[in-house]
Amino acid sequence: MRRAVKTMRLGFHLSIAGSYRRALAEARSLGCQAVQIFVQNPRSWRWREPEARDLAAFRQARRHAGVWPLVVHLTYLPNLAATEPELARRSRERLLGELRLARELGAEYLVCHPGHGPREPATFRRVADLLADAVREIPPPPLLLLENTAGQGREIGSRMADLTLLKEWSGVPLGLCLDTAHALGAGYDLGKAAGVEGLLAEVARGPGLAALRVIHLNDSQAPAGSRRDRHQHLGRGCLGLAGLRYLLGHPALRVEAVIMETPRRRPVDEWLNLLTARSLVPGPTLLPPPPE
Ligand SMILES: [Zn+2]
Ligand SMILES: [Zn+2]
Repeated sequence: MRRAVKTMRLGFHLSIAGSYRRALAEARSLGCQAVQIFVQNPRSWRWREPEARDLAAFRQARRHAGVWPLVVHLTYLPNLAATEPELARRSRERLLGELRLARELGAEYLVCHPGHGPREPATFRRVADLLADAVREIPPPPLLLLENTAGQGREIGSRMADLTLLKEWSGVPLGLCLDTAHALGAGYDLGKAAGVEGLLAEVARGPGLAALRVIHLNDSQAPAGSRRDRHQHLGRGCLGLAGLRYLLGHPALRVEAVIMETPRRRPVDEWLNLLTARSLVPGPTLLPPPPE
């Protein structure tokens, strides 16, 4: 049997401080093929509307940089499961605003965490309804991707069954983003082949492997089942490289992009993580362009 060559494009979550184009310039210097960005300041409710010419310049620069897919991550303050009316209103407004902006930037995906609240049907219903409204108002692209969480505090979405339920109840097209550090925290032992197989079997039974478009490739400072979300450099945490290699080489996997959200303390960190990631991804990967 001939196994098709998979193209798995590597990238980082990169900063847009100053301009959206900054992330593209950085992606280019690192030789990344995929990029994830925020479209607003992740820790502020203040909305900064970019000028139309900046959006056009970004789209043009992206064509030159050859970046695909462009993934936008919803900022941290919105809680899609919020019940308090003012927070619910702001969260909804922000989700719709970021989805619109992601579309204007030409993004393929918008990744969001399902939110936090009590583990009861009403919480899931609220999130599913909000996602459905957002997709009806701003249809794909970008496709909304639900990301699995570590299950910190009252976070929902740590089990694949949670994401399956949200996808089904929403009744609109939704995809999946798998964060390896969050999965470990949630108790999926991805350091072992059995843990990877177990998780992929849950994805296959639930949302389906075709829904899984993006992987957030992170090691974790917190051990399996800790329910804590602490990213670490690849191979330097509780997850280790063997399980990640097994996951990325898995024949059932169909993801388009592998994005690292590893810590950034020194400039060399990106390079070390990128070289490690390249060694884990099967098949040919592109090398960085020569310096200009
Ligand atoms: Zn995330
Ligand atoms: Zn995380």
